[in-house]
Amino acid sequence: MRPLLITHCGAGSDPSVQDAAEAAGARGLEVLVRGGRALDAVVESIVILEDDPRLNAGTGSRMRIDGRIQMDAALMNWDREAGAVAAIEEVKNPIRVAYDVLKTPHILFAGADAVAFARSNGHPRYDPSTPESRRNLMESLEQIRKGRLPRYARKWKGVPIHDTVGAVARDRRGRFATGSSTGGVAFMLPGRVGDSPIVGAGLYAGPRGAVSVTGIGEEIIKQVLSKFVYDRIADGLAPQRAADRGLALFPDDVPIGIIAVASRAWGEAANRDMAFFSSSARRTF
Ligand code: ASP
Repeated sequence: MRPLLITHCGAGSDPSVQDAAEAAGARGLEVLVRGGRALDAVVESIVILEDDPRLNAGTGSRMRIDGRIQMDAALMNWDREAGAVAAIEEVKNPIRVAYDVLKTPHILFAGADAVAFARSNGHPRYDPSTPESRRNLMESLEQIRKGRLPRYARKWKGVPIHDTVGAVARDRRGRFATGSSTGGVAFMLPGRVGDSPIVGAGLYAGPRGAVSVTGIGEEIIKQVLSKFVYDRIADGLAPQRAADRGLALFPDDVPIGIIAVASRAWGEAANRDMAFFSSSARRTF
């Protein structure tokens, strides 16, 4: 079977980061073309995106309003094995830690114990902050000083979100995998966990396909969006139509982006600009 890989740089991402979606896609495709697993292709793609300081995942993640960076990431395989980390700090590649979690009997590690788990698996201490992430924090604090937003945070309407990353893949054996990684949204309180590390919300994979989503995490969790889209695919709907139906669950003022792959097609839907890359230009094949 022809392998396929789709990457995205988040609902609200600027078209100027298109090259990142493409570089990540090329890296993942390399893994698939060599006969590698969809799961490994997703990890390698997301590492490229996490290492790009322009994107809100890994290096360059958004700061909480107390100036800390707490990141969420997750992976899910066609056999429904999953691994995730939430509010993890001071690691370079949360998606690699999620991969290590997937190899354990657990699914999700959070906070200080996720950091301890990462260290015990050989992930050294790393500072993911950048001048841009500090600038974003200063802007948020300035807004708060001017009396704009939090209360908390006006249910996320008008909150800047962008540059969360994700990938879905199908390998030569027809097996699927999905992943996501984020620094979250602006104005987050410490300890806030979005949809990205939540199986069924930020991502879902099974024997019929794989889905990864981006947008306001709280709204995505309430709709269990990735499982919603996956279930439509499992019922026989084309991934494009399933993604369109998922998007239609949200009003326009809630930014949402969706990528999905199944055995005969792929789909993408977003109500904001979203840099994304697909290794196949055609949506059905
Ligand atoms: N879904 C992410 C979160 O709420 C943000 C995003 O996709 O940009 O943490």
